[in-house]
Amino acid sequence: MSEEPALPLYHTSLGGPEMTVARFWREIPQRYNLVGTKCEVCGDVFFPPRAICPHCRRDGKIVPCQCSGKGKVMTYSVLSAASDQFSALKPYVLAIIELEEGTRVTSHLICEPEDVHIGMPVKSVFRVLDREGSDGIIHYGTKFVPDL
Ligand code: ZN
Repeated sequence: MSEEPALPLYHTSLGGPEMTVARFWREIPQRYNLVGTKCEVCGDVFFPPRAICPHCRRDGKIVPCQCSGKGKVMTYSVLSAASDQFSALKPYVLAIIELEEGTRVTSHLICEPEDVHIGMPVKSVFRVLDREGSDGIIHYGTKFVPDL
């Protein structure tokens, strides 16, 4: 599982039926920033991608969905006790962001903690999350920045 992006967000989406979507996620070229899935039956959008619609279950029809990446901050925390992995980043802002598509994501928000406020417009960026060792398996993933 070493290729998985390293934010807690992604760990929650692994296991069970969503494993296949985790694989789908890995195979997406980087240029497809913030690709989630959408249930064509009820119209709900999921990010991180889900393999099964929780509303429609077996009747759902899941397809890839390109999210705009734009949204706003619903709530946030400033975390100062960072793990080793985030040690270069602390303190950092972890925000729950509501995307234009209506789905919510928990993500690292790249900005000064004192600049964040609820309702702040943000947009997604594709960034290196983590590197492993000097020969560098590089993990990419989505983060958010203020949309000024
Ligand atoms: Zn559905």
